[in-house]
This record gives sequence, structure tokens and C-alpha cells, in this order.
Amino acid sequence: MTTHYDLIAIGSGSGGLSVANRAASYGARCAIIEEDEVFGGTCVNRGCVPKKVMWYGATLAHALGEAADYGFDVTRGGFDWGVLVEKREQYISRINDWYVGYLKDSNVDTYKGHGEFVDARTLRVGETTLTADRIVISTGGRTVVPDVPGAELGITSDGFFELTTQPKKVAVIGAGYIAVELAGVLNALGSDVSLLIRRDNFLRTFDPIIYETLQTSMAEDGVNIVTNTSVSALKKTGDTVSVVSGDSTLDGFDCVIWAVGRRPNTDTIGLENINLTPDADGYLAVNKYQETPVEGVYALGDITGQAELTPVAIAAGRRMADRIYDNQTGRHLDYSCIASIVFSHPPAGTVGMTEGEAREQYGDAVKVYSTTFTPMYYAFSEHQYKTAMKLVVVGEDEKIVGCHMIGKDVDEMLQGFSVAIRMGATKKQFDDTVALHPTSAEELVTMR
Ligand SMILES: Cc1cc2nc3c(=O)[nH]c(=O)nc-3n(C[C@H](O)[C@H](O)[C@H](O)COP(=O)(O)OP(=O)(O)OC[C@H]3O[C@@H](n4cnc5c(N)ncnc54)[C@H](O)[C@@H]3O)c2cc1C
Repeated sequence: MTTHYDLIAIGSGSGGLSVANRAASYGARCAIIEEDEVFGGTCVNRGCVPKKVMWYGATLAHALGEAADYGFDVTRGGFDWGVLVEKREQYISRINDWYVGYLKDSNVDTYKGHGEFVDARTLRVGETTLTADRIVISTGGRTVVPDVPGAELGITSDGFFELTTQPKKVAVIGAGYIAVELAGVLNALGSDVSLLIRRDNFLRTFDPIIYETLQTSMAEDGVNIVTNTSVSALKKTGDTVSVVSGDSTLDGFDCVIWAVGRRPNTDTIGLENINLTPDADGYLAVNKYQETPVEGVYALGDITGQAELTPVAIAAGRRMADRIYDNQTGRHLDYSCIASIVFSHPPAGTVGMTEGEAREQYGDAVKVYSTTFTPMYYAFSEHQYKTAMKLVVVGEDEKIVGCHMIGKDVDEMLQGFSVAIRMGATKKQFDDTVALHPTSAEELVTMR
């Protein structure tokens, strides 16, 4: 027997859950197909959530180091990786359980198994056949490992979250935000960390004020940043792994982490049966309404390759459901000016154009305001992490088109500023806003 739905989402990650839940809230008959044992996708199970728990642990490790400067008679003793991991997994398990109830309460049916297209209205999940007026592909991505000898001696970010004991000496290979975040966490928690990057800088798509400041902070913090490294092989040497790059070899790692990118899950979902072809990297092109060229087939989240972040997948899914099932004509996600945070130590945040992007688009009409300072929190600390901020403005009215910051607490600062910048705020409007004192955030409205 075939069951028919108004909408089926393949994948229960941020995108699939959001579109099905919102559509169901308007009375649409919805289902989600999930091949993983649990619901929630990458963010909850192998991404944002476990990462942030580890980041909180690492932040606490930093704070313990700073406590003596505030007069506390504390020394940093041992750290039990197993305790933190166990608590983290219990927390995630509670979220997974919550999703079961949430989907039930939302009247969204669930099917466990691998979903694939039979035709543009029909999906197969094992022995079950389902049909729908609209099918949403929200299958997310997976970690990739390069094709080099010995690559299997390394793990990926998925493997990092499976570590039940703390590695002593770690090589993190990669220059994106995941590599930087994992390196920062491991370093703060006491591992000996080398971060191997292909060029001179990591986070190269960010504004230089971020990667230059962060690279200095991480190096001062003890992360061995090895630049211009192109890993050609991993080798087992006794109980440890060596990383080979050209003529040089780095030895003695008990853990090597590949953080060199992700690939969209579009290769095993029967796209050939609906004549839908991903691009060379596996991404699916969509228009602003998340529509693929195949009528009735939509795609959202990481597989579209646009700002691969949880809130983006959620926002795209909800807007799609609002438009289709609540007659909110024209509603769609505007992918411009999306803020993001790197949970490094210290954290970094960015919204809008980098200085380079703005100069490319607006030339001499661009002006930049920036500041670098030691936040009061570190004023008498041994290690004084700098905070750096940059506003990129354009034209005579100095409309703010980019805001980039790194330093303590910027992760909680950026959301509010991103609202103002999205609304088209000008530098004068920032200047006209009376500062909150004493904070680091006040620098953003007092820059000259
Ligand atoms: C280490 C790490 C840290 C991250 N940190 C952050 C962060 O701090 N902030 C942030 O915003 N984003 C972060 N992200 C990114 C975020 O996790 C993703 O952008 C988000 O999960 C994308 O949601 P999605 O719905 O597109 O896909 P996913 O969440 O990946 O969900 C896809 C789901 O589809 C399922 N699936 C795949 N194929 C099939 C199939 N054929 N049949 C049935 N089910 C299938 C998968 O099992 C999965 O559950 C992080 C990612 C990683 C890896």
C-alpha cells in the first residue's frame, strides 16, 4: 500500500525538520524519512551542539587559568574527558528523545531508512513506497577524507565526537572553521595540538582582521600552526601516526583529524530517476524558492551549498512552508547578510562583506573603521587576548555593509548588531547610539 502526503522531507536535520514541522502546523500532511538511528541530523548529533558543549568546557579551562589573576586560590588540576563526553551524550540523547515527541505532536509521520526517488512524486524507503505532491531533499552532507595513502589512520569531526579518551598529541588538518574550532578545544583542554593548513592563513574567506588576530592568539596559546602544508600521506609509526607533507614529516600523533571539507549527500538518492543532476561538487541548484528544476522537488540546507549553517537551513525550510501552506506569497530566504560565528578561542563573528569584497564591489566608496584593544577582563591577566573589530562602510551616508569581530564575548554580541546591519544601519546611527559601559560591545558605537 502506498501512503500519500502533501510533503515529504528526506532527512531529519535542521532543514527537513523545519519544513515538515512548519508545513504540518498549517494542516499539511507531512512525513520525514531518516536513515540515521536518531532524528536531528548533523547539528544535533555531530555538529553545532556537541561542538558547543566541548567549547564551553574549553572556555572553562581558560577561565580556570585566569581565576588566579582575580585572586582565587585555584590551580587547574586534572580534566576528565570521559565525564564531559558522557554528560554531552546524555544531553544529546535527551534532545533526540524530545524530537520523537515533537514530531508526533506536530503530526509529522516518520519513516526510518534510506530514502530514494522512484520518480518525482514517489520515494522508496526499504520496502515502503510513499508518494507526495512535494518532496524536499534535505539530506545534508558528510565528512570527506582525501585520497592519500594511510588516510584511514585519521578520523574526521564525526570521529572526534566519538573519542572517549582525550588524545595527547593531535594533528588537525584543515583551514576551515571546523578545523580551527576543534584545534582550539583540544588545545584548551590540554592536548598538544598542531594545526596543519595548506597556505599561510586559515579562515581565508573571513576578513583578515579575524584570521590574523586569531592566528596570533592561537599561536600564543600554544597551538602549533604549521603553514604551507599539503599532507601527502599518513603513516603508522609504532603506536603513533606520522603526517607526511612533501619532504617533511611530523611525528608522534595519537590522533589525526581530517577537517578538510564536507560533501553533499546527493549521490545515492536516485536523482537519476528524476533527471536531476547535481553540480560537480554534488550540490543541487535551487531558485530563491528552494525549487529545483524538477517540478514539485525542492532542496534546502547544506546540499544547496549556500551558507551551510543550521539557522539557514531552518529559515529556508520555514519560509518555504509559510509560502506554500500559509499563502505568504513570495516569502523566501534572503541569503545575503547572514551572520556566523566561529567558536574559536577567542570566538569570532562576521556579518556582511569583508573589506576585500566591499572594495571589489564599491571601490573607493569604501571606508573602514577598526579597533584593537585588550578587554578589561584581561587587563591584569598574564595572557591578554586581544579583541579586534572592523566596520566596513560604503558611500557618503556610510552604510555599514560588513562587521567583523574577534574577542571575548563577540559570539553573544553579533546577533543584535546583525539585525541593525540587515536593516541598513549607517555609521552615524551607530555613533548616535549611546554606549553601554563598561563593555567591549561599546567600541562598535564609539569607533572613530
Ligand atoms: C563539526 C560541525 C560543527 C558545526 N557547527 C555549526 C555551528 O556552530 N553553527 C551552525 O549554524 N552550523 C554548524 N554546523 C553546520 C550544521 O550542522 C549544518 O549546516 C546543518 O546541520 C545542515 O542541516 P541540513 O538539514 O541541511 O542537513 P543535516 O543536518 O546534515 O541533516 C541531513 C539528514 O539527512 C539524513 N539523510 C541523508 N541522506 C538520507 C537518505 N537518503 N534517506 C534518509 N535520510 C537521509 C542524514 O542522516 C541527516 O540526519 C556544523 C557542522 C559540523 C559538521
